Amino acid sequence: MSNTFDVVVIGAGPAGYVCAIRAAQLGKSVAVVEQWADPKGKPVLGGTCLNVGCIPSKALLDSSHKFAEARDHLAAHGIGLDQPSLDVSKMMARKEQIVQQLTGGVAGLLKHNGVTVIQGRGKLAANRKVQVTDGEGAGDYQAEHVVLAAGSLPIDIPVAPADGDRIVDSTGALAFAAVPERLGVIGAGVIGLELGSVWARLGAEVVLLEAMDGFLPGMDQQIAKESQKLFAKQGLDIRLGARVTGSETTESGVEVAFTQGDETKTEAFDRLIVCVGRRPQTADLFTEDSGITTDERGFVFVNETCATEAPGVWAVGDMVRGPMLAHKGSEEGVMVAEQIAGKHHPVNYDLIPSIIYTHPEIAAVGETEEALKAQGIDYKVGTFPFAAIGRALAAGDTDGMVKIIADSNTDRVLGAHCVGPSAADLVQQILIAMEFGSSAEDLQMMMFGHPTLSEAVHEAALAVDGKAIHMANRKKR
Ligand code: FAD
Ligand code: AMP
Repeated sequence: MSNTFDVVVIGAGPAGYVCAIRAAQLGKSVAVVEQWADPKGKPVLGGTCLNVGCIPSKALLDSSHKFAEARDHLAAHGIGLDQPSLDVSKMMARKEQIVQQLTGGVAGLLKHNGVTVIQGRGKLAANRKVQVTDGEGAGDYQAEHVVLAAGSLPIDIPVAPADGDRIVDSTGALAFAAVPERLGVIGAGVIGLELGSVWARLGAEVVLLEAMDGFLPGMDQQIAKESQKLFAKQGLDIRLGARVTGSETTESGVEVAFTQGDETKTEAFDRLIVCVGRRPQTADLFTEDSGITTDERGFVFVNETCATEAPGVWAVGDMVRGPMLAHKGSEEGVMVAEQIAGKHHPVNYDLIPSIIYTHPEIAAVGETEEALKAQGIDYKVGTFPFAAIGRALAAGDTDGMVKIIADSNTDRVLGAHCVGPSAADLVQQILIAMEFGSSAEDLQMMMFGHPTLSEAVHEAALAVDGKAIHMANRKKR
């Protein structure tokens, strides 16, 4: 095997493997270095996303949703079931099979595109030399371009150190062998809400302890408040302003101490999940003379095209600025591959969709009302509830709303927010329109199939100008 490539990518997550495939499609000789291996030494591809992130969490969210539907909602459809039974090990095996299928698929795609997979731990040295250790591919490699795509790791907090048993991180919470009776979750962010929902639907009593006073502070606050109400209705006990200050594992579980206002409180749980965010996996990823610089949290400095300060070295995905999302990393991977091949493919950082895959889902793109107020931009808002959408009623899924925000002066759509059934797919429709510079009127004049959930998008766009049809008490226009 040659040790010289046009492009060497370090990390085979969604940022790295997508970059490798696109660079190979563009005619480059490409290798990807991946540290993870199965017990036989075969590289494990797909990164956090496929192995311990997006995919296994969604497999469990979908399984637990079906269980909760069977237990709580089918009777209303006239479908009688005895109490549904739960086999957690079968649920986990299904999740594992999906992960295997997808990671195997990535291996197939890399092979098909002629990408060399090097198993081992990569480290960038000066002049785009990559030193690989601890794996079958150990050795030195030379590249015209190096792409750093090493991703991120869960943040560990000293007040609740993960022990892999009573106290776990997100990876541990994707592999519980049984449903805990009482489950604590530190952090009511995206991952905490998703994992808390999984185990709550399966029967755990779930308490989320969130240090901040506001719920989902980065989200549009009307949607955040609506979501908070819906989670409370589902029985998720979300405590805001609750900062965890200590924990102690006992024989039967874990005692957690936290402050809330002036009070110090404790709660006892069978298990505790720590979901307080992720940090870039950049320790020992490059030598001092490689020319790479990071901020104090370890994120590698890059410009808007993902170029680092070292010539010919790029960095993408969770280890650079911006939201830690798989689709953001993949688009950056494509952008870098295209630049290496002399092409132009910018990432539109203003239109990154953000989604929480609870039920109902929460999804957003573009500006929130709060951000527009802070910028002094005049805007108008249209909202429409799913309760007035025939298809949502037919499905028995009427919680939530679509919200569209448009510029008061130009009518251009500036933001789309949704909590409700299929929120992610509905917001994606609006994102496409926004990418083409759509106005609210453009959305108003489009025809939406009936009966579909997407009619909520149409009605919300009409509501921006007080023209929603299926809503009373609106101004005549
Ligand atoms: P990673 O996926 O972390 O991949 C990095 C890869 O690099 C890993 O395979 C690692 O082993 C390898 N690596 C690191 N250092 C080296 C080295 N020195 N040498 C060789 N290999 C190395 N995002 C979404 O968009 N949607 C979701 O629904 C979603 N759900 C999530 C659920 C959970 C529970 C978690 C934890 C995350 C979720 N995310 C989600 C976030 C998403 O997983 C990440 O944003 C995404 O995986 C980042 O991709 P990446 O390629 O930058 O890094
Ligand atoms: P995210 O970054 O979306 O994964 O969310 C992580 C959440 O964890 C944030 O909302 C933090 O405020 C919260 N958090 C961090 N440290 C603590 C702590 N000690 N106690 C409670 N919540 C915390």
